[in-house]
Amino acid sequence: MLKKYLLAPGPTPVPPEVLLAMAQPIIHHRTPQFEAVFAEVQAGLQRLFQTREDVLILASSGTGAMEAAVINTTSPGDRVLVVNGGKFGERWGKIAAAYGLTVSELKVEWGRAVEPEAVARALREHPDTRLVLVQATETSTTVLHPVDAIARLTRASDTLLVVDGITAVGVLDLPMDALGIDVLITGSQKALMLPPGLAFLALSERAWRANASAKTPRFYFDLKRERDNQRQHTTAWTPAISLVSGTHAALRLMFAEGLEAVFARHARLARATRAAAQALGLRLVAPECPSPATTGIYLPEGVPGKIVGYLRDKVGITFAGGQGHLKGKIVRVAHLGYIGTFDVVTAIAALEMGLAAYGHSVAFGTGVGAAEAVLMDGMPPVGAV
Ligand SMILES: *Cc1c(COP(=O)(O)O)cnc(C)c1O
Repeated sequence: MLKKYLLAPGPTPVPPEVLLAMAQPIIHHRTPQFEAVFAEVQAGLQRLFQTREDVLILASSGTGAMEAAVINTTSPGDRVLVVNGGKFGERWGKIAAAYGLTVSELKVEWGRAVEPEAVARALREHPDTRLVLVQATETSTTVLHPVDAIARLTRASDTLLVVDGITAVGVLDLPMDALGIDVLITGSQKALMLPPGLAFLALSERAWRANASAKTPRFYFDLKRERDNQRQHTTAWTPAISLVSGTHAALRLMFAEGLEAVFARHARLARATRAAAQALGLRLVAPECPSPATTGIYLPEGVPGKIVGYLRDKVGITFAGGQGHLKGKIVRVAHLGYIGTFDVVTAIAALEMGLAAYGHSVAFGTGVGAAEAVLMDGMPPVGAV
């Protein structure tokens, strides 16, 4: 028997409460029963996004909401500024180009966060820029971008800020309304602890105003039509009914823990993972601006990228490898969603043993010990029993 652990940055593990909610018999979606569940999910999502705007629920992966955000706020030929510091930043550019937008790309070295000053310069150079497209956390490079600083720039201009928060919403504090984010996006299979298949996004009042004159072609992802329907607690097309029930259960778990506690847990798990890597003498991919969702770690000299496949297929531990030019060079240890203290301990133990299996000299327990020292912060007081 090989016990399996899913420690990749999406899909992430699904808690039993959510699995059970999704195992209920299908109910019809044009019914008061479904509408009641849908309404509660909508309210929960507003709380999660920290917004008063409608949070729309789409049956698609996260990329669908990225595409929806772009096409619902622009007209062909409009200029957009893409922050491209990894595979997902690159995807913004591809989506915008596919719809005939004029793309300015701000290239950011992999492993680094974008400099807000570089965004400011690009906006000064092209004041007609309609959108700034950025990731809150760039999953491919495990970087945290400074969305708050970018929002200060866009808030004071006519440019809309569109944030891919797919590995940030439910991981870190990203209050949409307080920061002035114009479009915020997430997906089901990351921090929301659900299977893949749903995307969520909210538009600010300014973004809805842009929508009213946006001419880029769209049909399935017509957000105005979705909003009109979702305000009646139903969807334009058949919703992913089971996943909506799962979302209901997942949000309940998140609010029972408390959003502050959820953010603190992610921060702690990330700190522990980084401390472990450093104690093992391994280099971080994003040492200066690390994402609290996933930690990228360079493999030491002599350890091949196929260690990721070995750990997955022979050991039962699924990490992610590198993408693009980091392929074969790094391992990405995810700690978002339904992940706790002892998942990180397991992850680091597996990393130590996997490195040793490839002949790397490891003092067993060095990384685990460093992680445990950080994770003690999350241990409840003994008097609480
Ligand atoms: C996972 C992810 C996506 C979306 O991917 P899908 O496969 O379409 O769900 C987009 N952006 C980031 C930062 C991600 O981590």
